[in-house]
Amino acid sequence: MNWKKQIRGQYLFYTLPSEFTVSALLKQTKAINDDLKDSPLDVALDLRGLEKLDGAGGRFINNLSASLEKQGRKIVYIGGKEEVLVALEESSFVKKYENIADFELEFHEMSPAFAESLLKLAPVNAGLSSLSLICPLCGNREVSGFILDEQKYKQEWNDSEITPMWEPASSKVESLDFAVYQVAVCTTCYFASLRPDFFTIVFPEGEVLSRLKTDEINNLKMTTSTRKQIMNQFRDADGDKYFNPPREKQVAYLSWLLHEACQKQMHSDRKLINAYDLVLANLYMCKYAENEEQINEHLHTALAWSNSLVENRQLYSGKRLMMGLSYQISILLALGKVEEAKAVWTGYRQEYAPQSEYHFWVKRVASLMSGYLGEVE
Ligand SMILES: [Zn+2]
Repeated sequence: MNWKKQIRGQYLFYTLPSEFTVSALLKQTKAINDDLKDSPLDVALDLRGLEKLDGAGGRFINNLSASLEKQGRKIVYIGGKEEVLVALEESSFVKKYENIADFELEFHEMSPAFAESLLKLAPVNAGLSSLSLICPLCGNREVSGFILDEQKYKQEWNDSEITPMWEPASSKVESLDFAVYQVAVCTTCYFASLRPDFFTIVFPEGEVLSRLKTDEINNLKMTTSTRKQIMNQFRDADGDKYFNPPREKQVAYLSWLLHEACQKQMHSDRKLINAYDLVLANLYMCKYAENEEQINEHLHTALAWSNSLVENRQLYSGKRLMMGLSYQISILLALGKVEEAKAVWTGYRQEYAPQSEYHFWVKRVASLMSGYLGEVE
């Protein structure tokens, strides 16, 4: 039986059959080595179905880990029975995930454990925790990032917004619009990101280096002039303090515009651009826009990126895809494309309504659709 290959996220994703022994190995080695030679991707091995691994199979996987590590590439495992993992234990290069959801999270999000440790280490200021960041492009050490304590705020829907709002969980907590502060911006080269870990994070205990790859940093460095042109379109938009709190509506708009630009600049392959973040950026730009014309333009752009997200669904975690489709339906309705919204809703409901963890989103989309369908069952 062969290893089943897919591309998922940044990974060549192999599902191993129930047995991987010397006889299977002889048939597989060449094909796998050819895949690896032709692709710059990291490797994920789904071991959940693997029952039997002999010494030769184990050695093959360990050698694979070592050679990928030398090229600066990563190998990860998902699942695996104890006896299988014992056979692999010699390898020290491997990161192991318990399940697919944890693995998929790495595609585009910070791990919840890392986010939690950031919160513990960051000083709190007026409801927001602030992080001291260093720009990975130009080395500017004066960048501020803001994170929200999700224990103190809960997400709620609001009739006038497509995106959910963070509302105080108790009366002791100040209310704030977190999306205004969500994007950290370097005021020297205008690198901007939602992800604090794309910057180097400074703690008294030491620095956590940016997780951007060298080619991503180089792509962003080469396009600094484009970001400066964006800044030049905004009067008053200079000075080190422009992005400091409190941020005006226009500053919030500009931060999301720069985030959008950076997401596009980071990857030369359009398929790898994080379409979910671009949907989000355009929805927030609608929120902070100056006029109807801008809103209409950003809604159309958000719709285009939501289509790109669906086309490249294997690059996104199940949750991101669900959230992206929720936004797609909202956008279609906002643009008056009711028939298209109904078509997406049919598949969406079948897929996500039975999954209780998605209730918050499904309920919202159902309530939007109910205005158009009469009764939504
Ligand atoms: Zn910078």
